[in-house]
Amino acid sequence: MIEFINVTKHYPGRHHVLREVNLHLRKGEMALLTGPSGAGKSTLLKLLLRLEDVSRGTLMVNGVDVSTLGRRHIPAYRRRIGVVFQDHKLLMDRDVFNNVALTLQVGGLTGRQIQSRVRAALEKVGLGDRAQDLPAVLSGGEQQRVGIARAIVHTPEILLADEPTGNLDNSLSTEILDLFRDFHHHGTTVLVATHDQSQVNRLGLPVFHLEQGRLHTPEEDKA
Ligand code: ADP
Ligand code: ADP
Repeated sequence: MIEFINVTKHYPGRHHVLREVNLHLRKGEMALLTGPSGAGKSTLLKLLLRLEDVSRGTLMVNGVDVSTLGRRHIPAYRRRIGVVFQDHKLLMDRDVFNNVALTLQVGGLTGRQIQSRVRAALEKVGLGDRAQDLPAVLSGGEQQRVGIARAIVHTPEILLADEPTGNLDNSLSTEILDLFRDFHHHGTTVLVATHDQSQVNRLGLPVFHLEQGRLHTPEEDKA
C-alpha cells in the first residue's frame, strides 16, 4: 500500500534530509515513525502527502506513483489520505461541526450527507455531543479529537499523524493513540510519527526509526 523505494530527499541548498529510504507498509497495517527532532519524520510524511517532491527514488501508494504524479492529479490523491497535526490547526471561530465538515465541502455532497458523516465522525472520536461547541471551550485532548474527526470524516484509506500527542499528557496520549489503533483495526492504514517512547513501548507496533535521514526498519532490528 505504501512503498518507499530508495527515496532520497534534499531541500534546495541543503544536505540530504532523507537518504535511500526503504519503507513498506501493507494495506491495513499500522506503524510508528520515531527518531530525534530533525531526523526527517515530517519530511517523510510530507512526501506522502505530496506537499514536497521526492528528489530521487520511487514512492508508490496503492498503485499510484506519487513521485511522478502530475500536478492536476494531486488534489484527488490527497483526498485519499487523512492527516492529523500536533497543533491540530482548528479554526477557532467555527464550531466543532463546521471544523469537521470543512474536509467534505469540496466533495459535492448534499447538506444532509455532510450532516450524517460529520455526526458519525464525531461519534467515533467520542464527541457526539460537542458539535455546537467552539474549539476554545474544549480541552487539549478534545481539540485533538476534533482534528482526528476532521481527518477521518471522508473515510480515507490512509491516516497520517505528525506528533499527534506532542502537547498532551500521558493518559491523553494513550487515549489518542488507542483511537488511531481503532481505525487501524477497522482497516485503515496508519502511520504515526512520535517521539513518545512510553507509547512506543506500550503499543508494541512495528517501528520505523529515522536517524539523520536514514531509516532503520523493523526487519533490520530483529536481525
Ligand atoms: P523531524 O520531523 O524528524 O523533526 P523534519 O523532517 O522536520 O524532521 O526536518 C528534517 C531536516 O530537514 C531538518 O534539518 C530541518 O531543518 C530540515 N528541513 C525541514 N523542512 C525544510 C525546508 N522546507 N527547507 C529546508 N530544510 C528543511
Ligand atoms: P509545518 O511543518 O511547516 O508546520 P505542516 O506539515 O504542518 O507544515 O503543514 C504544511 C501545510 O500543508 C499546512 O498548511 C497544512 O494545512 C497543509 N496540508 C497538510 N496536509 C494536507 C492535505 N492532505 N491536503 C492539503 N493540504 C494539506
